[in-house]
Amino acid sequence: MQLKQLPEDFQQALPILKSIEAAGFQAYFVGGSVRDHILGLPIHDVDIATSAYPEEIKSIFTHTIDTGIKHGTVTVLVDDHSYEITTFRTESGYQDYRRPDKVTFVRSLTDDLKRRDFTINALAVDHNGNVVDKFDGLTDLENKLIKAVGVAEERFHEDALRMMRAVRFQAQLDFKIEEKTKQAIKDNAPLLEKIAIERIHEEFVKMLFGKSWKKGLQNFCDLGLSQHCPGFNGQTANLQNLLNTPDVLFVDETMVWTALGFVLGIEDEEFNHFMRQWKVSNKIREDCLATERMLLDFQSEKFDIWSIYLNNVDNLSRVEALCELFGIKINNQEVEKTVSEIPIKSSHDMKITGKDVIDVLSIKPGPQIGQYMTMLEKAVVTRSVENSFEELKRYLLKM
Ligand code: ATP
Ligand code: MG
Repeated sequence: MQLKQLPEDFQQALPILKSIEAAGFQAYFVGGSVRDHILGLPIHDVDIATSAYPEEIKSIFTHTIDTGIKHGTVTVLVDDHSYEITTFRTESGYQDYRRPDKVTFVRSLTDDLKRRDFTINALAVDHNGNVVDKFDGLTDLENKLIKAVGVAEERFHEDALRMMRAVRFQAQLDFKIEEKTKQAIKDNAPLLEKIAIERIHEEFVKMLFGKSWKKGLQNFCDLGLSQHCPGFNGQTANLQNLLNTPDVLFVDETMVWTALGFVLGIEDEEFNHFMRQWKVSNKIREDCLATERMLLDFQSEKFDIWSIYLNNVDNLSRVEALCELFGIKINNQEVEKTVSEIPIKSSHDMKITGKDVIDVLSIKPGPQIGQYMTMLEKAVVTRSVENSFEELKRYLLKM
């Protein structure tokens, strides 16, 4: 097959291919960008594979960065663009079912394509738009199939993360997983425990961001992958509750983890522990704890403006999306109106300070000052008092 026209992103990168070829080497567009272009999807990053060794690439271009030079990747900067150029390589010495500890640079494109995970990811395109398809990836793209390159069992033994990538691509592309590949995942799911949680996390979240996340999640459960992830062992039925929800898309990571906390029925410390196991960042964990608190309030029809304020108003849109996901009825307009009327964003916006409290009440500094300040803040948030120094002073004296 030959592409009728190279997509704009490839055309822009064409001078790079040409420069490499002029130096006597081969260069191709590879991986996700080829797959996505053939599917008519937008391309996000253009990866280039070459027979030139990293040092050779560095001698061809003026501006380069040693991104992952040990693994063969050099970033080349041209105009305002940067491209990752990776030397054809084979991988060996996979220990503990993780990424290889040894990569060998080779001069053959076919050898490079062989080490890739799925046939749809093992396509390459040359400067004329000719598609190199050694593993029938084009047929699988057409049939919407995720199929391991070579013997699935062996490929998952080499790198068990590929099992997560299979369900991730299924969710993103709305593809099916080919039967043998599926069986191999089922047989090897426990190997996932050998994989660093950060890598699983990345694929898991990408899966849930996919438009067909339910299909991915279904296989994540049915093929037994969930059993080997933190906090999901014995929780299949709870996880599967997510499959019986309306078709709502996850807007961000906070929504993802909060939804999980909710279906697993875990709150506060237990929820925090679960997210720590998944190495969720501090900021997102904080937002999730606050978002879940609000969600639970809404579920029990507690609509408390002070609690919404404390739990960070910014989380409200996520709570609304989660309410839709879990069929919790709320009056969005009314909630949004009330929330928009909260006069302050944080205690920093208060027109009175702790020092003012000390002066007005003629009291000594101490922990009670903080208590007074909180009472004043709550009074402002619930609009019992106007946020002006004079009004707050009067209110304080009446308290
Ligand atoms: P995305 O759209 O998410 O970037 P992608 O297919 O480009 O999808 P990357 O993780 O960017 O995925 O990897 C680029 C390419 O490298 C893949 O298309 C695949 O050919 C190869 N690849 C990536 N990870 C693996 C892996 N674990 N095992 C084998 N090949 C892999
Ligand atoms: Mg990519």
